[in-house]
Amino acid sequence: MRAFITGANRGLGLELTRQYLERGDHVFAASRQPTQAAELQALRQQYADRLVLLSLDVTDAASIAAAVQGVQAATDGLDVLINNAGVYPHAGSGDAHQRLGQLTHDDAIETMQVNAIGPLLVSQALLPLLRAGHKGRILSISSGQGSLTWKATGDPYHYSASKAALNMYMRSLAAEIGNMGLISVLVDPGWMRTEMGGEHAIQEPADSARGIIRLAEQLHVEENGSFVTWQGQPVPW
Ligand code: NDP
Repeated sequence: MRAFITGANRGLGLELTRQYLERGDHVFAASRQPTQAAELQALRQQYADRLVLLSLDVTDAASIAAAVQGVQAATDGLDVLINNAGVYPHAGSGDAHQRLGQLTHDDAIETMQVNAIGPLLVSQALLPLLRAGHKGRILSISSGQGSLTWKATGDPYHYSASKAALNMYMRSLAAEIGNMGLISVLVDPGWMRTEMGGEHAIQEPADSARGIIRLAEQLHVEENGSFVTWQGQPVPW
């Protein structure tokens, strides 16, 4: 099994990378600065034959193209893409909320580029490799914050809107790739103890990663275009 994971240097992305490697799979771990990513470098020492570290900023077209070339140099297909990289402006700053009165263009644009547009364009670029793989699957890490049904607060404006946009982008993609034998789903990973989730979060990213890997294994074509939790339960749009 060959998996491509974005934002692989920390948090959920690092856990997904570690667990796929522990299972014996091949991983293309993409991060903005692989040379600075100590944990990824350590894994590279341990799994030199199955781990490829790639540089990838999901907001940069040239960076996406270079990462695709990096995969093509090593293999002729991919089986799983996990669009994991994400941002939550001002997370951990002590004033983590994107409240009315504090909203800025810069925060809005950055969040949309990383959380919604980036995953779409990464998926588009990797589509030929996924079509050449075994039951190509795209899992995009969304959030319950992107659910219109669950929306009960104003903040976090940008984060929620970006995940709702991601949901629509990936739902659009699912409508097109279903007849290619590919599957695309959106996954709410739960509230995880990571740099983004903070120390009060209720679950370990390792548990979410375990669930997401299991989910990826068990996906059926009928589930293409769905929005589910890391445990496979449906999330309302
Ligand atoms: P972290 O903040 O710990 O990690 C975010 C990752 O995204 C980092 O690897 C970061 O890289 C990367 N990243 C940010 N911007 C870019 C970019 N432009 N190009 C490439 N990579 C980028 O977050 P989590 O591990 O907690 O989150 C993983 C996913 O889960 C995200 O999509 C998040 O929205 C989602 N999620 C998280 C929840 C939580 O409770 N933590 C809850 C619901 C959803 P770098 O180190 O270079 O900044």
